[in-house]
Amino acid sequence: MPPNKQKGQQGLQKIRKGRPMDRAGLITLEQARAAGLSFDEPEPRACPHCGAALDPLGAALAGKVAWVSAAPCPCEGAAREREAEARRRAALAAKDEAARREKALLRAGIPRRYWAAEADRPEFAEYIASFAGNGGAGLYIHGGVGAGKTHAASAMARLFAEAGYDVAFTTAKGMLERVKATFDEGGTEAAVARYAKCDVLVLDDLGKEDATEWSVGTVFSVLDARYEDMRPTIVTSNYAPGALADRLARRGERVTAEAIASRISQTCRPVYLGGRDRRRRG
Ligand SMILES: [Zn+2]
Repeated sequence: MPPNKQKGQQGLQKIRKGRPMDRAGLITLEQARAAGLSFDEPEPRACPHCGAALDPLGAALAGKVAWVSAAPCPCEGAAREREAEARRRAALAAKDEAARREKALLRAGIPRRYWAAEADRPEFAEYIASFAGNGGAGLYIHGGVGAGKTHAASAMARLFAEAGYDVAFTTAKGMLERVKATFDEGGTEAAVARYAKCDVLVLDDLGKEDATEWSVGTVFSVLDARYEDMRPTIVTSNYAPGALADRLARRGERVTAEAIASRISQTCRPVYLGGRDRRRRG
């Protein structure tokens, strides 16, 4: 027996073993006869590759069998066609997955430059591993310019977005600008809610934004809402934890600045990334 014929026969056995009532409930002619179901004689179907007659498969509809399909042919040509179809489906699925990922990362606002960023320090791996049960704990990543804070925060934002969490990645300045942009046309509440209510907020470069009464108050209201709802926030800053309040209070908003620093120290574990913190203290 030629080897491909043998292979074909093995394939046929595999298909036969799967019976009865396999293929999502479809039934064969034999089964329809054995069950005494009524049916019209099926149209003969031939494999387009080898010409072999194919067993019809039917579905019982209101007591009568409708012939809807045929058993796959075990020949090489049909097998190749099925493999090509499986590859085509896999390629489509991969494309869908890539599109889903792109949509999630765009919605999260993660800059494209960081879409391949890795969170490659043990503190971050630990944080990610314990994330689901950590009760809303966040991180305060601080360090000098060029220490890789944005890179690390983006990497975590990416992982959470890819895992299906609703993530918002923004600079503190960008968040305030987007909220401010809604003042004229309305929608301020929704803009604040986007940051206050998302599953994970990554607030990049806290301390770089302006320190007006409004901006300090807005940052506080977002962080406070997240604190109350136990939603995690990942903050990056050039300022060490002990220097943040002074920085935010530089235009006199001492009480709110202290409240922000307090919320952060209550919920965010500090991670120092090296470089030189501006006005490092504590
Ligand atoms: Zn065939």
